Amino acid sequence: LSNYAEVTNGGKSISGSVTIPNLAAGEHVLKLEVSDAAGNTVAKEMSFVVVGDVIESRLVISEDVVKEKAEISLDYNNDIAEWTCVVTDIKNNINNDERAEILCVGTELLLGDIVNTNAAFLSRELAALGFAVYHHSVVGDNPSRLRDALTLALSRSDLVVMSGGLGPTKDDLTKETVAAYFGRSMYLHEESLAAIRNFFTRTGRVMTPNNEKQAMMPEGCVVFPNDYGTAPALAVGDGTHTAIMLPGPPAELIPIFNELVVPFLRRYTEGVLISRNIHIMGLGESAVESMLHDLMVSSENPTVAPYCKSGEVRLRVTARAEDE
Ligand code: ATP
Ligand code: MG
Repeated sequence: LSNYAEVTNGGKSISGSVTIPNLAAGEHVLKLEVSDAAGNTVAKEMSFVVVGDVIESRLVISEDVVKEKAEISLDYNNDIAEWTCVVTDIKNNINNDERAEILCVGTELLLGDIVNTNAAFLSRELAALGFAVYHHSVVGDNPSRLRDALTLALSRSDLVVMSGGLGPTKDDLTKETVAAYFGRSMYLHEESLAAIRNFFTRTGRVMTPNNEKQAMMPEGCVVFPNDYGTAPALAVGDGTHTAIMLPGPPAELIPIFNELVVPFLRRYTEGVLISRNIHIMGLGESAVESMLHDLMVSSENPTVAPYCKSGEVRLRVTARAEDE
């Protein structure tokens, strides 16, 4: 039995890959046991069929027992191998005082064909969550420029939220580029594949083989299922830096962000952040701003931020506290 490559705590599961050379053809059973420092143990068995002489298999433990270190033993036909792995917990390292930035991918944005409403939405939401957003950037669908933009973003920010490039075609490279940056291989995420198949059945459309690409995920990522389209959103991190990737269409990005990413980010922020909106009609944004200028500039808790909507000015008042 050879080495256990990596274990990452991606949400409620841990995963890794095992390479076992020289397996005889036929059916085998792999048993993986994981335990934490407190001695809680979970075991999982999986049978698989060997066709060639090397097989790569994947076992996932879907319990939240693994904290920092995992003791792993693998029983292959009574040949027992044991490892200790350090678990990368990507979620404990997001902190609401940290820097975030937004990186949007799409040649359409650079050509001016579409307006970057995703950046505006994400910026507002991240600020409301308490992140300091210092940069926005846009790159086209080009692998080397995307890699450069990602490297720069992760060099100066703890959290990079990305939009676009999760589609099924060859020029959709966001996941692959992020996976390469973090040194992760890609695997087929079965739950996502089933969800994509289901989406096509539900909407009466035909799934083409390239849609399977949308179910390929970097090892150790957190997947945010997409109920509004085909490309799931995801987060990948290395313990200090995290990249969140969201599909480009706003009709998918906005609900996924609100329903799944906000709780993901909030769970690891201290206390709670509560917002209330005050809707003001009959006054323009500049009039509201001049009346409330001192509150907007100097208030730290709660913060007051104006949003101009058609026909109204909305004030969002956000407070941070230990509990609601
Ligand atoms: P798809 O699966 O639809 O290809 P994707 O994740 O690959 O999604 P893109 O191909 O980059 O995303 O964008 C798909 C569509 O989403 C664009 O044609 C555009 O209508 C919209 N879109 C993408 N990026 C943005 C953005 N930053 N702001 C607003 N709309 C956007
Ligand atoms: Mg696309």
